[in-house]
Amino acid sequence: MMKGSLKSAMEEIASAIKANKDYLTDLDREIGDADHGINMARGFDAVMAKLNSAEPADLSSGLRQVALTLISTVGGASGPLYGTAFLRAGKTVRQGDMLNPKLALSMFRAAVDGVEERGKAEEGDKTMVDALEPAYRAFEDTLKSGGDFPECLEAARDAAKKGVEYTKTIPAKKGRASYLGERSIGHQDPGATSVWIILNALLQYAQK
Ligand code: ADP
Ligand code: MG
Ligand code: MG
Repeated sequence: MMKGSLKSAMEEIASAIKANKDYLTDLDREIGDADHGINMARGFDAVMAKLNSAEPADLSSGLRQVALTLISTVGGASGPLYGTAFLRAGKTVRQGDMLNPKLALSMFRAAVDGVEERGKAEEGDKTMVDALEPAYRAFEDTLKSGGDFPECLEAARDAAKKGVEYTKTIPAKKGRASYLGERSIGHQDPGATSVWIILNALLQYAQK
């Protein structure tokens, strides 16, 4: 990935988040405090403003800027979690590294580990982890069977969508939705949904 393409990837994410702002907020209205889309849109607007004002020197420092911007602007539970994900992904990249599927796999693993360490959620808790873990496994399996970057991302995106569907069937054990206990069953987790939207945006980016 060249300097400019982190920006293109983030542009793709920012516009997908913006397009789904009300959708994510509506999901959060059902089992949370109706701000997930607003939080995410504010964060990714700030990310684009940051990347437009100064071109990052390389992928690693660019991801660090993205992470710090998300942490300081998204707020809520999701801000520090997404921030940690991008921070850890950035730390996996060495100076001069170009993005390739194998590097992307280790970035993905580091990002998911970061979310899990920070949020202490595991699969089945009805959080973004329910989209992230299956997406990571699908990415890894597809890479191992010889898939290229778009194929890995497509498999990850589809697995994330299944994870999103799964969140409808379980009660929340972490985050605000956990206050509802069993009453959260039947509702789709907003954070798992934004993971799916982000992976779809990355796929759109990779297919260009
Ligand atoms: P808040 O709940 O503080 O308003 P958001 O609405 O922006 O924050 O984000 C809510 C989402 O954050 C949830 O749908 C869930 O996916 C995710 N989330 C909350 N707590 C955790 C956690 N401990 N681990 C992983 N994800 C979490
Ligand atoms: Mg919320
Ligand atoms: Mg909130």
